[in-house]
Order: sequence, then structure tokens, then C-alpha cells
Amino acid sequence: MALGRREFLKGAGTCVGGASAIALGFAPPQAFAQETRQYKLLRAKETRNNCTYCSVGCGLLMYSLGDGAKNAKPSIFHIEGDPDHPVSRGSLCPKGAGLVDFIHSEGRLHYPSYRAPGSKEWTRISWEDATDRIARLLKDDRDKNFIEKNEKGETVNRWLSTGMLASSAASNETGLLDFKFARSLGILALDCQARLCHGPTVSALAPTLGRGAMTNNWVDIKNANVVLIMGGNPAEAHPVGFKWVMEAKIRNGAKVMVVDPRFNRSAAVADFYAPIRAGSDGAFLLGVINYLLTHDKIQHEYVKSYTNAPFVVREDFSFHEGLFSGYDAEKRSYDKSSWAYDRDAQGYAVVDPTLQNPRCVINLLREHAARYTPEVVAQITGTPEQDFLHVCETLAATSAPDLTSTILFALGWTHHTNGTQIIRTAAMIQLLLGNVGMPGGGLNALRGHSNIQGYTDLGLLSLRLPGYMNLPKDSQQTLDGYLQAVTPHADEPGQVNYWHNTPKFFVSLMKTLWGDHATPANNWGYDWLPKWDRSYDMLAYFEMMHQGKVNGYIAQGFNPLAAMPDKNRMRDALSKLRFLVTMDPLDTETSNFWQNEGTFNDVRSEDIQTEVFRLPASCFAEENGSIVNSARWLQWHFEGARPPGDAWNDGHIIGTIFTKLRALYAKEGGVCPEPVLNMQWNYKDPEDPTPEEVAKEANGYALADITDDKGHVVVRRGELLPDFSVMKDDGSTASYCWIFAGSWTEAGNQMARRDNTDTGLGTTPGWAWAWPANRRILYNRASLDVQGRPWDPKRQIIAWDGQRWGGGDVPDYPVTSPPNSGVGPFIMHSEGVGLLFAGGDKLADGPFPEHYEPTETPVLASALGKTALRNPAARFYADEKPRMGDPAQYPYVATTYSITELFRHWTKHSRLNAIMQPEQFVEIGDKLAGKLGINAGDMVRVSSHRGYIEAKAVVTKRLKRLNVMGKDLDQVGVPCHWGFKGATRKGYLANTLTPAIGDANSQTPEFKAFLVNVEKV
Ligand code: SF4
Repeated sequence: MALGRREFLKGAGTCVGGASAIALGFAPPQAFAQETRQYKLLRAKETRNNCTYCSVGCGLLMYSLGDGAKNAKPSIFHIEGDPDHPVSRGSLCPKGAGLVDFIHSEGRLHYPSYRAPGSKEWTRISWEDATDRIARLLKDDRDKNFIEKNEKGETVNRWLSTGMLASSAASNETGLLDFKFARSLGILALDCQARLCHGPTVSALAPTLGRGAMTNNWVDIKNANVVLIMGGNPAEAHPVGFKWVMEAKIRNGAKVMVVDPRFNRSAAVADFYAPIRAGSDGAFLLGVINYLLTHDKIQHEYVKSYTNAPFVVREDFSFHEGLFSGYDAEKRSYDKSSWAYDRDAQGYAVVDPTLQNPRCVINLLREHAARYTPEVVAQITGTPEQDFLHVCETLAATSAPDLTSTILFALGWTHHTNGTQIIRTAAMIQLLLGNVGMPGGGLNALRGHSNIQGYTDLGLLSLRLPGYMNLPKDSQQTLDGYLQAVTPHADEPGQVNYWHNTPKFFVSLMKTLWGDHATPANNWGYDWLPKWDRSYDMLAYFEMMHQGKVNGYIAQGFNPLAAMPDKNRMRDALSKLRFLVTMDPLDTETSNFWQNEGTFNDVRSEDIQTEVFRLPASCFAEENGSIVNSARWLQWHFEGARPPGDAWNDGHIIGTIFTKLRALYAKEGGVCPEPVLNMQWNYKDPEDPTPEEVAKEANGYALADITDDKGHVVVRRGELLPDFSVMKDDGSTASYCWIFAGSWTEAGNQMARRDNTDTGLGTTPGWAWAWPANRRILYNRASLDVQGRPWDPKRQIIAWDGQRWGGGDVPDYPVTSPPNSGVGPFIMHSEGVGLLFAGGDKLADGPFPEHYEPTETPVLASALGKTALRNPAARFYADEKPRMGDPAQYPYVATTYSITELFRHWTKHSRLNAIMQPEQFVEIGDKLAGKLGINAGDMVRVSSHRGYIEAKAVVTKRLKRLNVMGKDLDQVGVPCHWGFKGATRKGYLANTLTPAIGDANSQTPEFKAFLVNVEKV
């Protein structure tokens, strides 16, 4: 007899109970039957999902059950880890373990509500009235302020007076609808959480390696010989992913090193810990580069063949006193024309394979990094010199072809004005060591939110389009001009230069956006895309809002009052809005920004004239859809219950507002109605598109029979595209996001696959689906030498069989290009190689990285001599200058961080997590505490030039006093989880303290290093 799991458990429970009762010689059969507790999951419905918090993307089994009443809705009463999931293998961390409490949180919103201008309270409103009113407000504002032509008479079709923030945990399908909604209206101020977290990762890794994402995957960490954790704390922020670090340590003998301002929980189980001053990581990493080059600890063959080390740079490129050639101090930006290669007569880059030319990239890099001696690094960073050298030596050992190091990082590197350059330096270290493309190697950017990778992929950022294409700017008035500008030519003959396919991806996007309205005659609707004159990223847009130039704002699954820097100023900015719409499962600080919460939010409600709509949304457990984990895996999840009360799915909310808006335009006309009315929105129910139809749209369809070079039909009209290689630029294919092509094909939903077979080194290509093309390790061709021999036979993940490339992973390479073909492994780059020198327009602040101090720094003169102290290309609004503090008044360096039990500002609504961390605290080193007379548990005030917070002091030895530039320096740790809403005790939003200035490339705010004072209250 075949028994299911539950039948087996039922039977086993009975037998065990029966056997023990009989053994004891009592318990009649009836009593025994009554005493046996029923298996708690009996009759429950099991639904698969993924954790909604961090982007490890742990698998969940959710169990739901009605209460027995007829027509009762199922309710989720138990969640546990999915034992089949190849990453989490049944584990959940304290955050995931509290998910049931999140679903049933008292902070969940059940009904739409409305706050009238000047009011002190919410009133209930129907969906119909709310969506009617919102559609009316949007239309009136758009019609009044839409800009069809700029002052030069160029067609720009943009709407600047209303903006939208997209979520970070909603599904990809919601993200696609967000994009279509916002861009059809001409909104340029469209942004998502990526702006506040991993923006610099994309800005750094794409120019260096070709793509801006985690190169390897969670399980692959186990293959490393060395794990460097710096700029992140995965034991707390990604606990289940961190188990693969422990796997590397225990089973692979890996050396784990942590470099961090705090001796954190990752450090507690590492082999080695080195302290560092927050904000000085760039100097540390440039010191590592100097060490590798001066000690000749690089993987020579890899560097010569797979990086641009031998490329020759133009004579007029230079670097003096912290500035690269072309700097314009007035504009705080560079003319980058000298950041370029020498060119030969055919226009190809000049290369010197002997590396003798002093203008070779490797020689310029050697000279550039030489200033970062161990002594200088120690002075800048406060890291003891011997600790720094230990890290250098350990990493250097992995320059051996058969050893690898992996680097794990997160917001500790991104949250700096210099964040992009910090991450780029790390990527360059990995190129020099030959560790990119290797199993157990790479740059593992640990994404924070569960779908922020997806929202980045989907182009939900001010100047982006899906699949990492750029939105056209004002000067790109014609489709041809735009495509010529964004489609690169090969820098070396014979290279793949995959972005040469950009026209195919772009036209396929346009066919998805405008459907039959996109024709060759109207350049596929090119004019209907809004064109930009400048960035409308969150920092820029809140600055505009503060100046009273913004009327409306939509915050979907986003709590900017808690997430944006300089909270008091952000609250003042929100107060100048005419209307605010929030869509969220939870009652957030943002939707209540007008409420007086005493010292936590001290406002006069009656003075705030903003109309606020608080729309209740479903959460992860109440929808079907896909999210993308940090390793680029698109994982499909299923609805386990309906949302509470009268809450709606996000797609339903967006679909209803958009449908009403379109009806208004159809009836009344208005300004530039074409993009609104022509946007393809042909869902079965336009007010409530299904995730399945949207997911297929993201993948794409053939709009005509697609033939190969020989005229054979490879995809029939109406079929889903099998991958992006079949896309065309003639309007015969439609695909919203080219890198998602292959995620839902004629073979079915690839994202829902559950084959966890290991095809080698922990690779599980049958589980879910990874972009691009289901590759699990990016640049994997670089794991073999030019002849196709693996650098390390134990790590062979792909192989050439004489005809084609194949193996345990999908080759990141043309499958028929044989070894020795001269085709480089970094196929997205026009050079075919990884870039140690990233010239052209790739970076705002230099083709080589340089250490610059945080905007607020205790360091007044650089150990590097006469030099630009702060990032000269970081954008600085005049209004922000008076809000910056100086070290005389604020002598301590503060850094924000997350703790294991809480996730941003969400889990404070979950009872279990609130019990574990009920009250706000700050962390102070014992020496500083002794100096200030502070004992553990005392209330302290931590203040910056922007405001203050008060919290309990946790006094530890984890924050060491450092010696920086000959002076003692103390640091303060500020966890960022509490606020005035939720199940925890009320607390201050930690972002009250942080400055509103961002990374020079991505405008991601500098949350990780700023100046404060500390006093006992
Ligand atoms: S928070 Fe991250 S590590 Fe924890 S259960 Fe959720 S996905 Fe897994």
C-alpha cells in the first residue's frame, strides 16, 4: 500500500501512541483515540511561496484552512520552510519564522481610507470613490502640467508634477503594470527601492563585468576557498544564505574573513576579523590592488586574456591630486573624452599583449594604486596594518588558478557617495585574481528586498527601461539617433558585443507597450515614451517636492518617510504635496506622516493640506506571481489565502485606476491622450489583470512566424518566445523584458519548476529559472583558459565537446564558438573582456576607482597628500549644504545597520519579531561609553546636524576605538528598524540622522557613514 506523507504521519502517530499505552498496561481504546492529538496540518491546503523579506528567496510551505463554516475563506495558520528548496532546504531565519504573524498583523489594512486636507483622522472610503477621486486628481494634474515640448521645441512628452515609487516585494507582474501605468502617463519620477539600496552595484558591476547582478549564486558560495565579507553582514541580514558560507568553511576548509566597523554576527563565526572606519572601504580595497600588483599576485594568463589590462589608453588621460582629466569644478562633472583607448586605423582599440607599453591599462593601474601603501591604508581606515596585510595575503593566495575567493557585500558598500567605486574596486580585485566566472568565485551582491532584483530588471528607475536599457533623453529625438547612441560597436574584431542586439530588444519592448499602435510609420511609438532632461531619482524628486514643485505622489509598497535620508526634511516635503496615494498591506509611517506622534513625529496636522488615500494591498501570501532572488532566480509563488477585509491585489488597484483614467481621457480628451489610450492593456479584465497573462507578456510572443537564417520557421505566430535569441527589430516579436525571455515558454511556466537535481557543484538548473537564459554562474566561460581547459579541473562547470559548449550550467558564451576562437568571455562588453579601466561614459567619477571621504567625515586632510577629499562628482544641492555637520560639533562616525530579528520597517508589525526586538537601541563601544559615563541600558541621545533620536544604549566591545590619521576615533551603530507604527514600542526613525546626498553614479544615499554626537539623556 502506498501511503502519502500525511497518511503515514497519521498512522505513525497512532502506532506510537498505541504502543506506549499498551506498554504501560492501561488506556482503553476509546480514551486512547480521544487523547491522540490530530496532526495539525490535517486537511490543510499546502501552498508554495517564497519569503517576502530578503532576497535569499527561501522556499515556504504555507498551510491554510477554513474554520469549517460553509463558504469560509481559508486562512493561513502555519508556515514552514520548504525542504526541497535548493538554497534554504527547509530553513527559515527569525524573520521568515514570523511570517504568519506578518500576514495576520494588526497593522494590516482592511479597507481604503481617506485623510482630508488639515484633518487629524482617517475616514473610511469605498474603493469606487477612492479610485474615482484618484483618477480625477491624476488627470487634472497631468492635463495642467504635462510638457509636450521643451524650450527647444523638442518633443518630450513628460509629466513632472506627479511621481511614483514602486514596491520592492511585489511581484514582477505588478512591476510590469507599474511601468506601463507610469510611463504611459509620462511620469519620469518613477523609482523603486533599488535607488536606496543596490543602485551602486549595478553602476559598478555592469561597467566592469557587463551585467550589474550577483555573478554566482547562494549555493555556489560553498565552493569558495576564501570568503571575504565586507560591506555586508549576511549572518544577520541573509541568515539562511549565510549557511553556504558555513558550508564552505566546514566542508571546503574555506577561510572566512570579515572586515566591518562592528564585530558583527558574521565576524563571530569567521576565521578572521578586521575593524575598519565606516566610509573608508575604498582605500582598503585600493590597498589590496596595490598589494596584488606589487607582490605579483595576479592570475597572469587570465588578466592578459580576459581583462583589458593590455589595452592602451590615450595620452591625454591623466590623474592628478584626486581628479581625473576633464574635470569641470563649476559643473562638478567630467568631460570624459580622454577616458578612452588609443584607436587604430580601423577604429579598434590598440592592444599591447606584451604589456610593455606604459599606457597599458595594467601599468596605469599599477601607478594609480601605488599610493595606497599598507601604511597609508592603515592611517585612512584605522585598520591595524597587520590585519590589512593578513586580508591581502589570504586573498592573494587565490590568484592560483585552482583556488578561488568569493566576495560578499551589501549595503555597507552601496550606501556611500563613493559606493560605485568601492564595488568596482572589489570587482577589479576579482578580475586580477582570476576569480570571476569561477565556481566559488565572483562578486556576490547580496540584494536586500525579496524582489528588488526583479524591480531593477524591470526598469522601474527614473531613467531606465526594462532589461537594463536606457530611457531616451531630450536630444535623442529620433529612433535612429537613439538606437545609434545606445548600440555599441565592437572594440575588438570578432567579439560578441551582445548589446549590438539592442534594437531587437527595444522594438520588442515597444510592441509590448503599444501593441498594434506601434508601427514602422510612427517609429514603434517612440515619441510616446517620455524623454528626460535630468534625473528624477528619489533624492532629486524629494528636493523638488520640498521646493513645492510636486503635486502628487504614489507610494506603492514603499515607506519613504522611513526609508529616505533626513526624515524631518522628507516629512516637510511630503507636507507640500496636494495628494498622496499609498498602496500597502501595512499601516506605514508614510501614510501617517501628517499625524502628530509627539517627539517621534512632531507636526501640526491642521497645517498639512495634503489629501491622503491609504489603499490596502495584498501581501505575498495572497497572490500568484514571480519574484527574483539575489541570484537572479525567478521563482513563482502561489496564493494561499485571500487578502483581509476589502484589501486588493496591487495589480487590481493599478488596473482600476488606469482603466478609470483611460475612460476619462476617452470621454473628455485632454493633453496628449495618445500614450494613455494607446498603451496595450488588453487583459481579460483590464481592471484586474491576472499574473499569468502578465508573466507571459514579460516573456514575449511571436507576432509573426519567426524563421532562422535558412528560412525554417522556429517560432510560430502567437507562440511564446523560447528565448531572446529569436527577437527581431522588425516588429514581429513582442517582449517586455528581453532578459526574462525564456521564463514562460510553450513548455510552460519555467519559473515554477521544482527539479532540484544537482548538475555539479551545487548547480540546480531545473529549479525555477534564472536570467539570462537560465545561467547560474555568469561569465562561466572565464572558468576555462583560452584553449578551453578548466583553470581547476575540480571546478569544471562547462565544457567543449568538439561541436558545442555544454555542461552543468548554461554556457555564457556562443555555444558554437570553439576554444581559441579569440572570442572573449565577457560577452556583454564591446571588448569581450572584463574592464580594469572603464572609460567612455560608463562612470561619473572616474575610469579607475579612487578613495574619497564621506560627505561628513572626521578626516580633514587626506593621507594621500594634496587631493580632492570628497567625491568631486557627487551631486550636492545648495539646500543640503547647511544640513551637513562638522567633526567639531559631531565627533563620532555613525553607521546604520540591520539586525537578524527585524527586516527594515516591516517586521515591527509582526508580533513574533516585535517580541524578540521590542525596543529601539543604539550600539556604543565600551571606551566611548566609559568616556561619556554611559552604562548599558541608559537612554542616550544621538544627534546629527539634521535631528536626533533617543534610544537605549547597548554598550559592547564590538565597536573598537580606532586610530585614524593619528587620532582616536569612536563609531556608533544605529539599527534602522523602529518607528511610530507597528507592534514594537514606538521609536524614532533612524533616518532622522542621515544626510540626503547620494553616490555619484546612482544617487543612492550615504546611510553608512555620517557624523553624530552622543549624550546621556
Ligand atoms: S529573511 Fe531571508 S534568510 Fe530569512 S527566511 Fe526570509 S528569505 Fe530566508
